[in-house]
Amino acid sequence: MVKLPTTEEMERAYKTRDGSYDGIFFLAVRSTGIFCRPSCPARKPDPRNVQYYSNPRDAVFAGFRPCKRCHPMKALGTPPSWISDLLARVERDPSERYSDAFLRSMNVEPARVRRYFRKTYGMTFQAYCRGRRLGKALEQIRLGIDLDDVALGHGFDSHSGFRDAFVRTFGKPPGRSRNAECVVTAWIESPLGPLVVGATSRGICLLEFTDRRMLDTQFATLRRHFSCAIVPGENQHIKQLKKELDDYFNGSLRSFSVPLLYPGTSFQQLVWKELLKIPYGKTVSYENIARRIGSPAAQRAVGHANGLNRIAIVVPCHRVVNKNGELGGYGGGLWRKQKLLALERGQLST
Ligand SMILES: [Zn+2]
Repeated sequence: MVKLPTTEEMERAYKTRDGSYDGIFFLAVRSTGIFCRPSCPARKPDPRNVQYYSNPRDAVFAGFRPCKRCHPMKALGTPPSWISDLLARVERDPSERYSDAFLRSMNVEPARVRRYFRKTYGMTFQAYCRGRRLGKALEQIRLGIDLDDVALGHGFDSHSGFRDAFVRTFGKPPGRSRNAECVVTAWIESPLGPLVVGATSRGICLLEFTDRRMLDTQFATLRRHFSCAIVPGENQHIKQLKKELDDYFNGSLRSFSVPLLYPGTSFQQLVWKELLKIPYGKTVSYENIARRIGSPAAQRAVGHANGLNRIAIVVPCHRVVNKNGELGGYGGGLWRKQKLLALERGQLST
């Protein structure tokens, strides 16, 4: 579970509009029904009316709506500037030793960095740096760059240190990894909250809302299917998907063309392929899908496979509804299903 800072600390943070707490907690105001990020420029509420949440999902499910001034749904997707600066720095030089003293010299409080990384990326800051180092090393190895150069170029003191770290992360030594695959993951901001995306060199294999409770399971499944590590980063498929999602959310894209990978049982694959045939803006029932794949009695199994879809939005499981026209379930939250369908029907304001 994510631990919130103390109430005192959070109160001080929102009263002083301290942006360095953005993404760490959210405050909801009972008297107005709105929730905000700590740096919100709006008038500061009476602490007695304030309730604290560690993520936007919980605030939304407690009945609060996102503030129109500070857009708290974007808080996790748009890192606060102190984090962006740090991420950019790590990207430029992942081999730097980012000690506590070093972080302080950048005017960043180490404890806050730890909290942010654990919460947003589900790993420590050190693990993130190691992941980026190894991710970059793997790219170079696949390009055929000499192993000693790679080891020296990525901040490992010795070849064997590099080997050990590599084996811990990727499961096989670098010499045999020229064709090794890893799943690179990145965060994508969307009007419905941040998404986490995963891709191999062959295509997109994961797209989920980051607050979805299934995310851990999905990562474990990916690790099993691709038997490889999951490291932060970006590749050409992720870049393409980002662009396509932008166009989808502004209403100008109706079908995605980014390559997809969705390993699963043959039944699951049948269902997911059928989902891909549902036209933009249309809905079909679980029963209908069951009939289309030639298993009319398998409605429940269809519903289950639909729920296990790992590539939200692109494999449009949100277009499957109950026979009676009710929305049915949605792993990413019913309100998101509603919004996606409204967007596709041209009924979404904002
Ligand atoms: Zn606000």
